[in-house]
Amino acid sequence: MSKLLEVKNLKTVFLTEEGRVKAVDGVSFDLQEGETLGLVGESGCGKSVSALSILRLIPYPPGRIVDGEIHFDGKNLLDISEEEMRHVRGNQIAMIFQEPMTSLNPIMTVGRQVAEPLEIHHQMNQQDAMREAVKLLEKVQIPEAGVRARSYPHQFSGGMRQRSMISMGMGCTPRLIIADEPTTALDVTVQAQLLELLKQVTRDFNTALVIITHNLGIVARYADRVNVMYAGRIVEKGITTDIYGDPRHPYTIGLLASIPQLDQDIRKKLNPIEGQPPDLAHLPTGCAFHPRCTYAVDRCRLESPRLEAVKGSHEKACWIDVTQ
Ligand code: SF4
Repeated sequence: MSKLLEVKNLKTVFLTEEGRVKAVDGVSFDLQEGETLGLVGESGCGKSVSALSILRLIPYPPGRIVDGEIHFDGKNLLDISEEEMRHVRGNQIAMIFQEPMTSLNPIMTVGRQVAEPLEIHHQMNQQDAMREAVKLLEKVQIPEAGVRARSYPHQFSGGMRQRSMISMGMGCTPRLIIADEPTTALDVTVQAQLLELLKQVTRDFNTALVIITHNLGIVARYADRVNVMYAGRIVEKGITTDIYGDPRHPYTIGLLASIPQLDQDIRKKLNPIEGQPPDLAHLPTGCAFHPRCTYAVDRCRLESPRLEAVKGSHEKACWIDVTQ
């Protein structure tokens, strides 16, 4: 496998009334062709801002990428023109958002919306693009796709809308799909079907996939590697089996402990991480996790740890060894 995406020391800030907010603070990771990466963490940890930075979709003002490099297929996306970037978006990198109702155009039929990127990026005429759109809707298991292509988004269920977004994303056979909380608004059985579908179509097309989620259960099944984020930084990264089998950062350990287990006594309370994610405009000193960390020592309040190797590609940013 060759490297498709390489993000180096990415820093994205927002200038707010409360001051300069470091939403993404020195994030580095890479992704191979056809690989699935899970970006995990609570709301506001920088997962979505990292994804929007890759697509150069950070609203300016107040947001701005202030440092770093984003190499995709050999070129730094932060160096290319807006016109070149428009060709990358939707064509080479597609994004699937959490709530398709806000991404789909309510006054355009679903079929036209799936067909449109094919006309723009692949110069297909309207008829050919619509024929292809129907095939794509069939691929994502929309029943009677030829008929349903003429429906409007409000005539689809939530699951069908999200399937349509996947077909739209796959239309131009992108090299990378970024799925931002793709199933959060759906019920559990539809979630599982959609994730299976997403995994299957990315496998069929050898497309790399970034799944952004707060749900570690989702990435356990679908991701090859996992980056755990907290307060704009990656605090633990590694192959999925290492993160689940041998977590070394207290935050990852807390996230894993908060996942409900099927065989758990239903009278037993869940085990959430105490406290709230920090206000990024007023981060604590030292390790940003220290006010919530049951392992914290004095050094944690003073110095911020960097990512360091645990074993192989497994890395963690923590002063202590949780195995001792
Ligand atoms: Fe907890 Fe300290 Fe490790 Fe931060 S550095 S996660 S506060 S033990």
